[in-house]
Amino acid sequence: MEIRPTRILLIEDDEDDYLLLTKVLARIPGTHYEVTWEPDYASGLARLRAHPYDASLLDYRLGARNGIELVKEARQMGYQQPIILLTGANEGEIDIKALKAGADDYIAKDQLQGELLHRIIRYSIERKKAEREREKLLSEQIASRELEKKRNEFISLVVHELKTPLTTLKGYAQLMQKRFTTAGDSNMTRMAMRMDTQINKLNGLISDFQDVTRIEGGKLKFNEAFFSFDALVAEIVEDLQMTTQQHILQLEGETGALLWGDPGRIGQVITNLLNNAIKYAPITDRIIVRRTMAENMVQLCVQDFGPGIPQEQQGKIFDPFYRIESSMERAAPGLGLGLYIASEIIRRHEGTIWIESEEGNGSTFCFSLPLQRSNQPSQSDQHSPKEQILG
Ligand code: ADP
Repeated sequence: MEIRPTRILLIEDDEDDYLLLTKVLARIPGTHYEVTWEPDYASGLARLRAHPYDASLLDYRLGARNGIELVKEARQMGYQQPIILLTGANEGEIDIKALKAGADDYIAKDQLQGELLHRIIRYSIERKKAEREREKLLSEQIASRELEKKRNEFISLVVHELKTPLTTLKGYAQLMQKRFTTAGDSNMTRMAMRMDTQINKLNGLISDFQDVTRIEGGKLKFNEAFFSFDALVAEIVEDLQMTTQQHILQLEGETGALLWGDPGRIGQVITNLLNNAIKYAPITDRIIVRRTMAENMVQLCVQDFGPGIPQEQQGKIFDPFYRIESSMERAAPGLGLGLYIASEIIRRHEGTIWIESEEGNGSTFCFSLPLQRSNQPSQSDQHSPKEQILG
């Protein structure tokens, strides 16, 4: 038995047909229909306006007007519940016209038997429900996309507003550094250098935010060219060696590989891995940077001898904003974005990034990149690799 009656509105100018239909519906086993009858166009429309019936059955012939006009008018005023048109015999293409006007189905009066009518009503109700669910889902998706878009626009604005004064500050810090150096004031020179370093850190955090917004908005672009992988790694190791007195950055292996990709972005990944090694293994003295070649892939591994990363957290550290909850790691500054950005850059270069680590025994972060990518142009179209890195 159905829990509540199915409420049907019948708009039909012939009382005999109303009585017949009530009888047909009452005889369908296991159902409970409750029929409201309106005998003409105007009273029918008023009912539709006042109540959302589970389904309405409209006769085609309604005095001077007809059921199709009524369907149209009901749909125009925003009525969304199922409407089924009852057509007489030999009434030509009314069925198609009814569907075009917004009816959900139709049934010829001479076929008005219980099972068929029940099926048509039930299907119309269920179809409408599914349609509404789909629309709800779609509008939720649109709303969440809109929200996401607004959020990204807001972050872009904030990033821009933060970057502008920082650029000016950086200019002043560098000028002060020069002036104090010329004046031979080593204390003030050191302070100006520290200012510059802190400004660089802030710039790095802001750039990470900008990259995440770009990734999420599908706007992370790559400036691709052929470049020497070995030269790029060596250049970064040399630059970062100057930022740490504690660690020796030990460069090993060579690949001789000429890769197709964005050297700036790949450099960003290498810098991130090395900076993490420096940052999270502060009381060790050695970091190994190993370049190798295996099965048409170049591979770079950065190995430190710091605290390592527990097995259960290794899968999560590539997620955005994920940081390990240990007091030592929390003490190091960061937003947990670097590895997420790195993994996106490597993925977009058709490569893989991973970690090998044991808690207490250091971490080795590696990535591999294919020598030949799917969208790679021929090398003769490009400048020499050195020019690409330097210029
Ligand atoms: P963050 O800006 O926080 O350093 P990352 O995405 O680069 O962000 O790293 C995510 C987290 O992974 C870090 O917060 C840190 O907890 C952990 N981590 C990354 N590299 C190392 C490492 N070499 N040794 C230990 N922990 C690391």
